[in-house]
Amino acid sequence: RSAATPILSLDRARKAFGGLVAVNDVSFAVERGDIVALIGPNGAGKSTTFNLITGVLGLTSGSVTFAGQKIAGIGPQAIASLGIARSFQHVKLLPEMSVLDNVALGAHLRGSQGFLAGLFRLDRAEERRLKAEAARQIARVGLAEHMHKPAGSLALGQQRIVEIARALALDPELLLLDEPAAGLRHFEKTALADLLRQLKGEGVSVLLVEHDMGFVMNLTDHIVVLDFGTRIAEGPPAIIKKDPAVLAAYLGA
Ligand code: ADP
Ligand code: MG
Repeated sequence: RSAATPILSLDRARKAFGGLVAVNDVSFAVERGDIVALIGPNGAGKSTTFNLITGVLGLTSGSVTFAGQKIAGIGPQAIASLGIARSFQHVKLLPEMSVLDNVALGAHLRGSQGFLAGLFRLDRAEERRLKAEAARQIARVGLAEHMHKPAGSLALGQQRIVEIARALALDPELLLLDEPAAGLRHFEKTALADLLRQLKGEGVSVLLVEHDMGFVMNLTDHIVVLDFGTRIAEGPPAIIKKDPAVLAAYLGA
């Protein structure tokens, strides 16, 4: 792997909830321009790890470094503004609102305030700027023809991509995706994988949590495997696929 500074690195990141160690001194890196998957059985600590990276949860010990800067403790809003954007497992678009407005408003909020607060604070010039940026991102992800439709009228796979456009409107260097392929039909997964490859080509690094192994194995450059909070393996898909510890964790052996 590259000798350049990774876009993201975790160094012995630890999170305990009382006596339960959800993330147990986990270390890994996301190299710039890579698509990396965090996999593992239910309860392995994947979501907690995401929450440590985005600052939603504080570390018990260890560190998280983004583009060479330690980010633990600076808070979710500061972390987002440095260039880490996140999409959630469950689509959180406002279904009645247009695709364009959903993306524009999401960019405006930066995950920090309520939707209404966001609406009331927009002045005309700022609204125009946000909509222009939103339109640019919607075109970038290939949904320009759907821009003015209510977000809820789109197929689930398209809504998932709208969520990604909303995250992209923050101009992130690193995109965190929580189960982006969940519930999608085969052709929608293919379209999503194509989009993530496109973004990689445009220099965006991606860290995703995903259960669909076919999706992960065909798409990623590197895989990190967690089990009971501990990193049990990491490497390229071809190696991870055959790793005995990984197979045992998934088979519950
Ligand atoms: P995954 O996303 O891999 O399924 P999680 O990170 O959600 O796993 O959870 C890891 C472990 O931490 C689980 O045992 C879970 O019950 C526990 N856990 C997660 N969040 C909390 C919390 N806020 N308080 C207490 N325990 C938690
Ligand atoms: Mg989870």
